[in-house]
Amino acid sequence: MCLVVGVLNAYACEGCGYTAEVSGGPDYGGISHTQTMACRNCQELVDVVIATEEEDRARAVVGRCPRCGRAARLVAWGKDAGGPGAHEPRSLEHMLMAVSRSRLDADPHPVWGPCPKCGGDMVFTDSVGMWDG
Ligand SMILES: [Zn+2]
Ligand SMILES: [Zn+2]
Repeated sequence: MCLVVGVLNAYACEGCGYTAEVSGGPDYGGISHTQTMACRNCQELVDVVIATEEEDRARAVVGRCPRCGRAARLVAWGKDAGGPGAHEPRSLEHMLMAVSRSRLDADPHPVWGPCPKCGGDMVFTDSVGMWDG
C-alpha cells in the first residue's frame, strides 16, 4: 500500500465569509497530483487533478474543474502558486501591507490567496483531514 496522502485544509475569506476545504497548493495523493485552483466559472476553490496514474480517468479529469468540468477558467491558487491569479497585489499600499504582515512570523492565520467570490484575503483556518487518490 502507498502511504503517501494529500492534505485537506480549511480556508476562510475575511471579506465575505466564503469557506473552502482544499489542499491550498500543489499536492499529491499517491496516485494523482493536484493543484488548488480558483474556478472563475463556479467562483469556487477546487483541487484540480494535473496528473494521474489512473490513465482511464486522466482524459476526463486532468486540468478540469471537478465541479463544472471546464478547463478554460481555472487559475492556480495558493501560497506556492506562482501563476496568473496567484495573489496579485492591487496597489503599492496593498503590497506594503502584505510585506509587513509577512514579518509577523507568529501570525496563526496567514493569507493564502484571493477569495474567488469577492477578491478578499483568504486565510488558513484549520487542518481538516487527508485524502488519497
Ligand atoms: Zn470573499
Ligand atoms: Zn468550475
